[in-house]
Amino acid sequence: MAMRIRRLSEGTVNRIAAGEVVERPASVVKELVENALDAGATQIDVVFRGGGKTLIRVCDNGSGIDAEDLPIAIERHATSKLSDDALINIETLGFRGEALPSIGSVARVSIVSRSETDAHAISVEAGQASEVAPASRQRGTDVEVRDLFFATPARLKFLKSDRSETAEALEVVRRLALSQFSVGFSFVTEERRWLDAPQGESEASRVARVVGTDFPHNSVAFQHEGEDVVVSGFAGLPTAARGQATQQYAFVNGRPVKDKLISGAIRGAYVDVLPPGRHAAIVLHISCLADRVDVNVHPAKTEVRFRDAGFVRGLIVSGIRRALAQRPMKADSGLATHFRPSSPSTDFGASGFAEAAQAVFEMQMPPAVGHVELSADQVQFPLGAARGQVHDNYIVAQNQRGMVIVDQHAAHERIVYERMKAERAGQGVVAQALLVPQVIDVDSADMARLLDVADVLADAGLRLESFGDQSILVREVPAALQGGDIPALLRDIADDASALSQVDTVEERVNHVLATFACHHSVRSGRMLRAEEMNALLREIERTPHGSECNHGRPTFIEISLGDIEKLFRRS
Ligand code: ADP
Ligand code: MG
Repeated sequence: MAMRIRRLSEGTVNRIAAGEVVERPASVVKELVENALDAGATQIDVVFRGGGKTLIRVCDNGSGIDAEDLPIAIERHATSKLSDDALINIETLGFRGEALPSIGSVARVSIVSRSETDAHAISVEAGQASEVAPASRQRGTDVEVRDLFFATPARLKFLKSDRSETAEALEVVRRLALSQFSVGFSFVTEERRWLDAPQGESEASRVARVVGTDFPHNSVAFQHEGEDVVVSGFAGLPTAARGQATQQYAFVNGRPVKDKLISGAIRGAYVDVLPPGRHAAIVLHISCLADRVDVNVHPAKTEVRFRDAGFVRGLIVSGIRRALAQRPMKADSGLATHFRPSSPSTDFGASGFAEAAQAVFEMQMPPAVGHVELSADQVQFPLGAARGQVHDNYIVAQNQRGMVIVDQHAAHERIVYERMKAERAGQGVVAQALLVPQVIDVDSADMARLLDVADVLADAGLRLESFGDQSILVREVPAALQGGDIPALLRDIADDASALSQVDTVEERVNHVLATFACHHSVRSGRMLRAEEMNALLREIERTPHGSECNHGRPTFIEISLGDIEKLFRRS
């Protein structure tokens, strides 16, 4: 006999939905703060205790809920936000009518709200609603959630430490605070006030508050549009990239999203200037007509689907790339800002500064260093006139603002890479057939990896084929790599093959390979340069796209202003 089918009770249905909508305390915070934003609040205060299990309270000064609507608000699939059933023009953060009933089914919730005249209260406990009762309050809504997941103990077990649940919830509020910078936000735990963002503050000051006070110096603003889609925001400089993507804030029509298409596009935009595993900080807003994007893809509403995904991806990539390429090569918007003696807190600042200071102090100018007379006509260039070379790899130059130290290896790498890319965009990478094809022994895993990417390598000018089980035959190499260490290069490419397979487009994959080539080929430390060679290199860096970083996102030069030098010597 078949099992009887029975209808689930409303309580059970809500608890099942709660499994998707309120996964953890941070999701409760997200839903409640989104409701406050949808209600037009200008101030939203969050109290978060005991990792969210003891208490989550969200207070707003928004439109409030009428007394007769209070019982409906906590019913399933009840919303004031969809005027029709088309689900096409969604302009609010919420629309599914699931949050309040879901939270109410797994916790003890009390709501006090006032719309026009009087305030009223209602409470729900594990799905059981109370009567509506009179209360007192200013205009707006208070939602208090206590004992989260007491009704679903299994869920409690999956929560992380109070500290990480708190961090997660704070992150939710920070993201929303970035999307609506004119609204005031606070986030308070028993420990401290973690966030206090005043209402009416400028976007720049909100961004600095949320992403970090260094971020404005380490990013470029961008705005780019096509058809009726606008992408805008602040793109972090490659030199300030991190090992994790935690500082990527993306919004679609003001909705914070964590979306594969968008993170892939960001990766694509930086593929030339960052190695795999490094992530730029970025604030990215995508604005379009509501009907171009489907936000009803996931219960937590953090993923979206664009009607024209390829177009949007392209727009993001080109918007960010242009911003990075067009940034002027000068002290106050570029690298020198990493290099502030006054802010040893930035990762790069601290170590870069110490190294550079070391280089300055060790600059003894022995004969081999090639001390160079100042050539007045070169000083006016951004990277100035070469004055010498130290430690076989660093060019020291003088410009009008102070001094510049160039990492010759890193700079050369960028130049070679950009040249090969330009070559490829023109008539294709110039390849040179080897007089005697080179046979290189590899193990079978590397062999498989290399053959896997053989077509990409061929496109980049390196032609190889299998030669027995254990070796590879190289017939042709890019002209720029003549005389290089091909076996070492193949090993690097094989090591890199898994990263390569994650890169989305063919063009980006070929570029990735070219970057590896360039890294191999660039001037190694130890090469002494004559004055003209140094100055030529400096001018070439200035001309080269992305000239201020090598292909690994490290800076190719740093600038120290005269003011900073004077600070070092306590002259100012
Ligand atoms: P949704 O946000 O998808 O509509 P919710 O369950 O989150 O569903 O909320 C149900 C309804 O309760 C909302 O549509 C809204 O009318 C009302 N509501 C919830 N929170 C607030 C608030 N802070 N201020 C005003 N109205 C609210
Ligand atoms: Mg909602």
